[in-house]
Amino acid sequence: MGRTDHRVAVIGGGGVGAAAAWALARAGVDVVLIERYRRAHALGASHGATRNFNPGYTRPEYLALLRAALPLWRELEAESGAHLLDQVGVVNRGPRPDVADLLEALPTIGLRAELLDAREASRRWPQLRFAGPAVHLPDGGRLYAERSVDALYRVAEARGARILEGTRVTSLQANDDGVVIETDGGPITARTVVVAAGAWSNRLLDGVVDLPPLTVTQEQPAHFALAAPLPDLPAFNHHPEADSAWWPSAVYGGWTPGVGIKAGWHGVGPVTDPDARTLRSEPAQLLALRRYVAEWIPGADPDRFEEISCTYTTTPTADFAIGSVGPITVAAGFSGHGFKFLPALGELLARLASTPGARSPFRLA
Ligand SMILES: Cc1cc2nc3c(=O)[nH]c(=O)nc-3n(C[C@H](O)[C@H](O)[C@H](O)COP(=O)(O)OP(=O)(O)OC[C@H]3O[C@@H](n4cnc5c(N)ncnc54)[C@H](O)[C@@H]3O)c2cc1C
Repeated sequence: MGRTDHRVAVIGGGGVGAAAAWALARAGVDVVLIERYRRAHALGASHGATRNFNPGYTRPEYLALLRAALPLWRELEAESGAHLLDQVGVVNRGPRPDVADLLEALPTIGLRAELLDAREASRRWPQLRFAGPAVHLPDGGRLYAERSVDALYRVAEARGARILEGTRVTSLQANDDGVVIETDGGPITARTVVVAAGAWSNRLLDGVVDLPPLTVTQEQPAHFALAAPLPDLPAFNHHPEADSAWWPSAVYGGWTPGVGIKAGWHGVGPVTDPDARTLRSEPAQLLALRRYVAEWIPGADPDRFEEISCTYTTTPTADFAIGSVGPITVAAGFSGHGFKFLPALGELLARLASTPGARSPFRLA
């Protein structure tokens, strides 16, 4: 086998790629991270102030990732010196078919879950309106997104990872020695490669690896100003109520200290080309979001808000698409729920890229 520049190359320096670079560097693996823009840039899916650490999962592959992710977030905080996770809890409103499963599943990984009636939930969080029982997940909370991506870059670099920002990969080709990666800064070779290219995965891997259909949407949540000072507020999800036929989708959100209460529709933004984004909200959805806030978040002002623009890349089932084809490991389809798992996804990708025969709990095709 011929010499290559690096043992592993990671293409895409969003949250997922940066987490893979940290995990590989931590394991003493020679790794290069290649990102076409700058760390925490605003054109992908990992920027902005906050993300929800919502542990509302029941399937074993996600429960396993959750169990691994929580202590790793604390390790990342310790290693980077940055505060990244506030465990302020998550409260889920609205009818949800799998409440009993959730209440049963989370204790199996050491996380708490409780069912509150509307009266008790309203007493605790008057900033939100409750029309029925709510599921409270006290170990959930909020993550600081950009700060986390920055921390991952810093600790990966400190552990010896080579970081190439402002470098666009134009093509990749597997051969007997590994992978040849053409970039706008010249070729790079590696024994194996992780491709975590988010909304650009289809374009980069066309003709290289068969991917499941990936839909790229431009999502448009917003931060709404507080209607009154706020002690704190758990992150939240709201599944459609009986009288919410006008909602485009379920809602997620939470409080971003110093900014406002974030709220957004989930996965229904306009299908978009990541290289031709409008970065402007679709007016009808924004109007509907403001109506939602007026009706269901009394703690927020529906007329004072700051729009956010961000991409989801979603498979038909909204499951992650993670797997290896020869020397190429692909990580795509993190939709609107990948951020909470970042450090655990990093560990999984490091294993897949550096351990021959390692298997993914997710599927690629
Ligand atoms: C509005 C919004 C709200 C969300 N809320 C939550 C939440 O509450 N909780 C949660 O867990 N998750 C949430 N998510 C999901 C989460 O943010 C994403 O799943 C995650 O950030 C995906 O990271 P990524 O690294 O796959 O993608 P990205 O961050 O988009 O990274 C892909 C990177 O690849 C680079 N790249 C692409 N092509 C090339 C190339 N040719 N050469 C070099 N580099 C390239 C891009 O520049 C980019 O930086 C939310 C997402 C959005 C958009």
